[in-house]
Amino acid sequence: MQHILSSDQFTREQLLEIFNAAKKLQDSKEIPQTMKGKILATVFLEPSTRTRLSFETSMLKLGGQVISIPNSESSSLNKGESLEDTGRMIDSYADIIAMRVPKKGQVNIFSTHISTPVINAGDGTGDHPTQNLLDLYTIWKEHGKLDGLTIGLMGDCCNSRVLRGMAKMLAEFDCKLIFIAPPEVQMRIDVKSYLKSKGKDYKIVESLDEVITDLDALEVNRIRHEYFEDKERAKEIGKQFIISKQMLEKGKEKLILLDPLPRINTYLEEVDEMPQAKYFEAVTNSLFVRMALINSLLG
Ligand code: ASP
Repeated sequence: MQHILSSDQFTREQLLEIFNAAKKLQDSKEIPQTMKGKILATVFLEPSTRTRLSFETSMLKLGGQVISIPNSESSSLNKGESLEDTGRMIDSYADIIAMRVPKKGQVNIFSTHISTPVINAGDGTGDHPTQNLLDLYTIWKEHGKLDGLTIGLMGDCCNSRVLRGMAKMLAEFDCKLIFIAPPEVQMRIDVKSYLKSKGKDYKIVESLDEVITDLDALEVNRIRHEYFEDKERAKEIGKQFIISKQMLEKGKEKLILLDPLPRINTYLEEVDEMPQAKYFEAVTNSLFVRMALINSLLG
């Protein structure tokens, strides 16, 4: 793998290799300093809290160093420089690049002429492969497997790069997928066709209540209001994804609850105390998954 651009580029074997490497790092007393003398550039042209800091922390923990364009105002892209030229330039400074952009496909454009590995850290409604890796890793770690599980993806399935990517990455395993959303923001045809092409089936429902007793894991993502012209409508739809403790009480004991965060009208705070709530633990797991990925790209 040269660049990490999409959630469907990994084989099952590659995914399991990353998870095993992440687990080994997480279990080790000391993190091997494999990135000494190497530089990670984080180029974030869209807001981020966790993803940028998680990438930077991972590189620092591996003994590497970090340079950063933390927002869209602080680079010459703001003066109109092209993504390709910016890519060529950062190529000479960094050994590896993590990039977030507001539009689908922009990371592909950026990486066209460069040899430095580029990791897509979120491109509009496109993909966010490392978020998917860390969520899958969390489920894999908790259940000890992915095959045979029933996984619910709830929320803005239409616009959420996280939910869209989860469905594609999970196609490498023998899982039952359930998309939980009102018709207005249901999973788009591109992802459904992808699943069909891989021989994978999925189920579509409108409410969590219909399937809660079946689920082994549930990932929910807020309404992605940034992609809506009618913000009021977005708000109204978003309220349908609020999840209370009571709604989850019928769920399995080993149900894993995930949310890529920020949680905006998803799990109520009362859910945090449930042993099934793993969304903050996933943030810790993200460090080991990103370390494993950096090691595999530069190893
Ligand atoms: N942090 C995730 C993302 O960048 C989820 C979100 O923003 O809702 O896609």
